[in-house]
Amino acid sequence: MTSEATRHVMQANRSKNTKPELLVRARLREAGYTGYRLHWKKAPGKPDICFPGRQVAIFVNGCFWHRCPHCLLPLPKTNVEFWKAKFDRNRARDARDNALLVQDGWTVLVVWECMLKEERLDSTMREVLRELDRASREGQNVARMVEIGSPRPWKLRRERQKLRSRHTLR
Ligand SMILES: [Zn+2]
Repeated sequence: MTSEATRHVMQANRSKNTKPELLVRARLREAGYTGYRLHWKKAPGKPDICFPGRQVAIFVNGCFWHRCPHCLLPLPKTNVEFWKAKFDRNRARDARDNALLVQDGWTVLVVWECMLKEERLDSTMREVLRELDRASREGQNVARMVEIGSPRPWKLRRERQKLRSRHTLR
């Protein structure tokens, strides 16, 4: 890979204020949730958006760079080793930042880019705002990581129970 291509890669990887980020920020402002900080240096991993008072950090993840589990985008066909190593590093860094934040008492919201498509945007933002409200209520900010748009554990449990009872009926 030429150095110029590498430079582009590094730039893209570290880019701030991406379109998905701007979209989330606009929706937050619209809903009256101002007072967030961008890439705040005092929080581990400098989250894209964070509310220090509520201790809520929001990462808006590009599906390609952060290897979205919903999209499972294919690896580029050339320089496979390079990309693999790069994505591994990205993933390791995400995991480390999330863990550090939760350790410090933060609620971490991960919003994947694909959850911001027009048809999903409203429900995604509803969930984000719900989590923000919950974290702001006294005694309810249980530090944890929430992937917006992913099925909740209780929902999965209920689905499994439904499946099981269907089997026993037969
Ligand atoms: Zn995705």
